[in-house]
Amino acid sequence: MNLSEAYTAGPLSLPWIERLIRFDTTSFQSNLGLIETVRDYLQTHGLSSTLTYDPSGKKANLFATLPAADGTTQGGIVLSGHTDVVPVKGQTWDSDPFSPEIRDGKLFGRGTCDMKGFIGVALTLLPEMKAAKLKQPVHFAFSCDEELGCVGAPYMLADLKARGITASGCIVGEPTDMRVIVAHKGINAYRCRVHGHAAHSSLTPQGLNAIEYAARLICFIRDQADQFRADGPFDEAFDVPFTTLQTSIISGGNAINTIPANCEFSFEYRNLPGVDTGPIIARIKDYAANTLLPRMKKEHANANIDFELLASAPTFDASEQAAITQLVRALTHDQAIRKVAYGTEAGLFQALGIPSVVCGPGSIEQAHKANEYVTLEQLSQCESFMRKLIQSLAQAS
Ligand SMILES: [Zn+2]
Repeated sequence: MNLSEAYTAGPLSLPWIERLIRFDTTSFQSNLGLIETVRDYLQTHGLSSTLTYDPSGKKANLFATLPAADGTTQGGIVLSGHTDVVPVKGQTWDSDPFSPEIRDGKLFGRGTCDMKGFIGVALTLLPEMKAAKLKQPVHFAFSCDEELGCVGAPYMLADLKARGITASGCIVGEPTDMRVIVAHKGINAYRCRVHGHAAHSSLTPQGLNAIEYAARLICFIRDQADQFRADGPFDEAFDVPFTTLQTSIISGGNAINTIPANCEFSFEYRNLPGVDTGPIIARIKDYAANTLLPRMKKEHANANIDFELLASAPTFDASEQAAITQLVRALTHDQAIRKVAYGTEAGLFQALGIPSVVCGPGSIEQAHKANEYVTLEQLSQCESFMRKLIQSLAQAS
């Protein structure tokens, strides 16, 4: 089936999803083309958008409110999605990742499940929302730089806070197979630079080997990970039921016969809700400053170890009593308690006092991979979920 045939037979939201996917919004690139297209569309429906930019000015978040029929703009439900996607570099795709294709009932393309499908459904159903005489407003919150560790949304949320905008609930449409996710871990990512001193490799007493000390620190990080794995705390509702740490990137040295002056590595940890992040990084920094550095300084005065925070996003732990949790459970007929290791923006909305749940079309299994796809069935399911949501907002007082 080609796309135009699917448009008449398949989910109503396909044209919008296709339009969104054709913008290459890989996180390191501008997303302004997509954001401005969405802004202009919302404008034609009488909604004005607030754009909040990242420091480069090349990327923006968009927030817009469809007021209730009586003009109310406070309260209501936020529909949250990130507009950026992960890179396709190094992946082998069977079709152009930015030119969506339908094969075997699946829509292929970068961002189909993570997470332009959800955004496309929300935009497509805007006319139905307008026609429904809502008793509560619907807010659209489309962010940038989520894939860099939820870096973009904080600009939007700070603006909402400054303008006193509140909502009674938020649905983050990350891919969950349209099931309800009520908790996820936090994200904390750091870069560490170990500074030593270069010398000819035969003259080891004159140099300070940065790689060797970086290795010691990396082993210490691994020891912390092993301790969490062995001793907890545990939450068995999570797919990985303990806090994890790991080193993911490393580089250092420049020649086989030179003592490396520098080594740099990145590590991250994913903490369970209730596990304080402060003591984890404090232990790592303490080991660097008070165990490794004194030994390094004995070898060379140039010794140094510094840390840079790259990204942090809070944990998310929904209340079962929250109205949004009960509403989304009722609309999806899903009462299971599901908690996941991957992070989303739900923790950020929650921290702003907006109770949240994660529920969207497609599977996290297909996210970030070559041949990412969402099934047309999942998109139809998301559309009918969104229609039921509209109905309930039209009835709610
Ligand atoms: Zn995502």
